[in-house]
Amino acid sequence: MSPIYIIAIDLGGTITKIGLFEDGKLIDHIKMNSRPDLNMATSLPRIEKSINLLMDSNKVDHLSGIGIAFPGLVNNKENTIISTNAKYDDGVNLNLEEWARSHWNAPFYIDNDARLATIGEWQYGSGKGYDSLVMMTIGTGIGSGVIMNGKIMYGKHFQAGSLGGHFVIDYKGRLCSCGNKGCVEALSSSAFLRQIIKDHDALSPLFKSQSQNYNFKTIFQLAEQGNKDAQIVRDECIEIWGAAVINYIHAYDPEIVILGGGVMNSYNIIVPHIEKRVAEYAWTPSEKVTVATSSLGSCAALYGLEYCLTKKDRI
Ligand SMILES: [Zn+2]
Repeated sequence: MSPIYIIAIDLGGTITKIGLFEDGKLIDHIKMNSRPDLNMATSLPRIEKSINLLMDSNKVDHLSGIGIAFPGLVNNKENTIISTNAKYDDGVNLNLEEWARSHWNAPFYIDNDARLATIGEWQYGSGKGYDSLVMMTIGTGIGSGVIMNGKIMYGKHFQAGSLGGHFVIDYKGRLCSCGNKGCVEALSSSAFLRQIIKDHDALSPLFKSQSQNYNFKTIFQLAEQGNKDAQIVRDECIEIWGAAVINYIHAYDPEIVILGGGVMNSYNIIVPHIEKRVAEYAWTPSEKVTVATSSLGSCAALYGLEYCLTKKDRI
């Protein structure tokens, strides 16, 4: 039998990843910086080139599916983008099924990126063996996905479980890109980091003046080196992520919460703090909820796509 080849695309705000799967194994991938304009129509030709390059270099002449993990709200039944949040806004008007069919004559699938990462971890990663789990992805934005009693949560309008970045932490807080105030994302994501530093009363003027130079990687490094300002930012963001995790536990009743995204390179600092907060403050009389790190890392959404394109009818 000839192998089944799948292309999975994770369309991130900063990095776009394209993976080639052969019979369920990720055999090759390309990582590239996302276009700064975050425009879908102008990103697709670059993606097409990368897909063709992956196919040529691996001697693949036929694809059994192409999928996109998208940073917005998606109707996965009709394979359309419902709503965006300052990323790939023009995607709402594109016929992506037709795009996949006209170029590669392949079936197409699209869903929310954090939901797909959750499915990837559930089937192949840290969530294997659990039937109720929540995943939180902390990156440019903050996303989430939920599996409840063995079922992927979608809701009436495909947004259930996906809006973990927009749970309100401070109802008087900073205006979020979604239009609400004080969301987890507005208070503790990379996209808002510069503003978080600028607005903070307790940070030194020197540190604030360099806010444009910082990302979470440098904040965690400086904090490790003893920089007090970086420690304040790091510790507050971890507290906010912990508060969000407790909200998810109360909302979705999972057995395990999986944390993913680029910031989890510092899991050794983040996970114990969040575990402690959950142990102290979450209302979980029946069972202790496990806090774990993503085991598929930045490839989790690619694995979720592979699963949805080849095996989803099993569940
Ligand atoms: Zn928001």
